[in-house]
Amino acid sequence: MHPMVKSALRRAWRDRSTVQFGMTPAHALTVGPMDTATGHFLELLNGTRGLPLLRQEGHRMDLPEGHVDRLVRGLARAGLLDDARGGGDAASALREKREVMDRLAPDLASLSLVARGPGEAIGRLAARRELRVRVRGAGRVGAVLAALLSGAGVGEVEVLDGGRVEPWDVAPGGLPAEAVGERRDAAARRAVRRAAPDRPVRGGPGPEPSGAGDPGFALVVLAPRDDLAVHAPDPSATAGLVESGTPHLYAGVVEGTGVVGPLVLPGATGCAGCLDRDRGEGDAAWPRLVAQWRSGRQRAVRPCDLALATTVAALAAAHALAFLDGGLPSSADARWEVSVPGLDWRSRPVRPHPACPCGAAKEGSREGVGKHTSEEAGPRGTMAVQRPSSTPCRQADAERLAGTWRAHV
Ligand SMILES: [Zn+2]
Repeated sequence: MHPMVKSALRRAWRDRSTVQFGMTPAHALTVGPMDTATGHFLELLNGTRGLPLLRQEGHRMDLPEGHVDRLVRGLARAGLLDDARGGGDAASALREKREVMDRLAPDLASLSLVARGPGEAIGRLAARRELRVRVRGAGRVGAVLAALLSGAGVGEVEVLDGGRVEPWDVAPGGLPAEAVGERRDAAARRAVRRAAPDRPVRGGPGPEPSGAGDPGFALVVLAPRDDLAVHAPDPSATAGLVESGTPHLYAGVVEGTGVVGPLVLPGATGCAGCLDRDRGEGDAAWPRLVAQWRSGRQRAVRPCDLALATTVAALAAAHALAFLDGGLPSSADARWEVSVPGLDWRSRPVRPHPACPCGAAKEGSREGVGKHTSEEAGPRGTMAVQRPSSTPCRQADAERLAGTWRAHV
């Protein structure tokens, strides 16, 4: 192990014996008591030295016997330590790719805030490269979203859609103006390749046109251009995904409202069928309205604010990445909605419905959900602020040391 204090969190002394790592309440921690010598020693934890050399340095600085190991252990337990050589073989291979690492450096630093163990962040970044994600829909939302996933290091992002690029599909980061008139799927795949940090995505020729089943995908994102499909997703369109147990996420814009979610973990969280049944029970007119909307004349151009669509694409991509990285974003069992002009996000629950064949409402069906949650995803903000104490850090034993790491705010 080559210990490295995570550089993602700014370091500052709150007082003479307490160090605060990080600025924002979501991820900041205070560590104390810490003496000045130990504070200086932190500078040496920059990934260039292994433990034997660090122990020598500690000895040279007159730190007590075993202090360096206790410090490293305590920092690691608090999620503040990375390993410059950890993360496994895939991570080592990724480190060799300097240009890719430079491109993804901010993403890696951000991952280090949630992937707490040493070497874990780059391990997750390397894991993204092995993932396959399919995006159904290549309009203003879908094409941008697909490019974002590709740019964030997801190895294979496949886009499905029909027809040709229309002028109103064009969006910065998504389909370019030059693509108007081209096949939508081909143009979107080119946008995905352009966004990738290193190489063309795998997958060779285009996908099969049906999109049925979507086997082997870690996640399927549904980003329909049709606003009714955004507002009232047809459960039959995702029956294959529910049946095959494929996680899927909805995103889109309907009229002046952007929607992200739900993230459906089949059989564990509420799906489109649950949503439809729930709405039918809450509003007797719902089925009648949906039937009229479905049979109504299609408008060529539907309202879709460009900035709203981009916001939706980005937030949905962030939820997708949080899930792909092993977390459970707040779109599971919920739809996040935002409307012009107020633009305040609000979440609406998508409750598992007892009559839905997906089975999410069955007893015990949610047991699997927890495994998607990374252990560090807990509400750190509820922990107590560590108060400075007169006990010098270097005299504290390992357990005591570990116990001094507390969330700030
Ligand atoms: Zn359901």
